[in-house]
Amino acid sequence: MIDLLIRQALVVPVVGPVRPACDVAIDGGVIVALGSELPFAARRVIDGRERIVIPGLINAHTHLALTVCRGISHGELSALYDVMWAVEQHITAEDVADLALLGALECLRGGTTCVNDHYFFAEQVARSMATLGIRALVGHTVMASGGPWVGDGELAEALAFVTRWRGRDPLVTPTLAPHAADTTTGPWLQALYAAAEQHDALFHIHVAQTDREVAAIAARSGLSPVAYLAELGVLGPRTLAVHCTRIDDADLALLLASGCVPVYCPTVHGLRGRVLRAAELRERGARVALGTDCAAGNDDYDMLEELRQAIAGQRIIRRSASLIQPAEALAWATRDNAQALGLAGQVGVIAPGMRADLVVLRSDTPRMTPCLDPVNTLVMCAGEREVEHVIVDGRILIDAGVVTSVDERAVVRRGRAAAERVIERALRAGASLPGLARS
Ligand SMILES: [Zn+2]
Repeated sequence: MIDLLIRQALVVPVVGPVRPACDVAIDGGVIVALGSELPFAARRVIDGRERIVIPGLINAHTHLALTVCRGISHGELSALYDVMWAVEQHITAEDVADLALLGALECLRGGTTCVNDHYFFAEQVARSMATLGIRALVGHTVMASGGPWVGDGELAEALAFVTRWRGRDPLVTPTLAPHAADTTTGPWLQALYAAAEQHDALFHIHVAQTDREVAAIAARSGLSPVAYLAELGVLGPRTLAVHCTRIDDADLALLLASGCVPVYCPTVHGLRGRVLRAAELRERGARVALGTDCAAGNDDYDMLEELRQAIAGQRIIRRSASLIQPAEALAWATRDNAQALGLAGQVGVIAPGMRADLVVLRSDTPRMTPCLDPVNTLVMCAGEREVEHVIVDGRILIDAGVVTSVDERAVVRRGRAAAERVIERALRAGASLPGLARS
């Protein structure tokens, strides 16, 4: 008797061809077999007819607690400097716990089974991820200057956080997460990178994100942000270099030579009008990852939408009508993101021996009909409404549309209350947030 059997689904393994009328057998959190009419008895059977099964989507860059800034970062103000920093200084640890859980629940509902988060109060983020049961990499954001939370205590907490969470929960992996080159110092970056090497952890940092960062690093070192990080010795295969939207050809060559993972956030890049040369980097051998970034810039955490934005964004900057086909976009957000986050061989494809992180989507909805080419139709059309079951490590976290591990209405209620009290505190302190007035 195995734990779970999905019967007669159209399975998109990402490695190998699509498999119609295929069963997926899951036991002990692991995919144990794939095939037609598998001879297993199971404690739970999911009818997969008119359903598509894909590997869980992986979001390679989030700040989940920034759900607080959803919808308020438009207009003339800088999302980072004018909105986020004004709001974030009023966030407490309790707020982060509620806001991150809200963001993670949104991810799960959209078919994302793994997130890579970067935020202050990482202890609370990690606990919220464990509460929900989603797979997560979590790093404590470190700033030395400029932002809402700075100082030696932040560096100490980032290092202590990794020690506390290493091996504590099989689904939560700690990382090192300096904010950016201009908001930290060279010695801090080197200390965090050394800790990443010591713990075999990822080093997750924003790179060449804004003109202000580029100018600050030029004033400090005479170098570009990419060259500065390379000179410090912190640009390597364990480095996730998020954005890189302000780079020249020399920077691009440095990114390639370092083996680092540039991270492309298609919606945010599109909205800000500066798009990472992601397809070019991939063609030249870089392991580029895909993520949503935060609700202060996106304004959601929807990886299905991000697949379409990724295709459109790269076609626009390359003036191509054929770059990145839908199947490649799906493989990018699953197999390739898993590889980029150090999870290759565990998740990202559907094959025996892999951990069971899976999404079952309906193909019988108006939006998915007709479903003549299932992968193209799924990537270009599917949304949250098609996501029926979400399975993480063999555990059904969304079952026929119902969230099983937390009380969904309570999470939404608490998240909204947290956002309202943070914004109220920010407005009382004089933050200028267009469209929002003190109640
Ligand atoms: Zn970010």
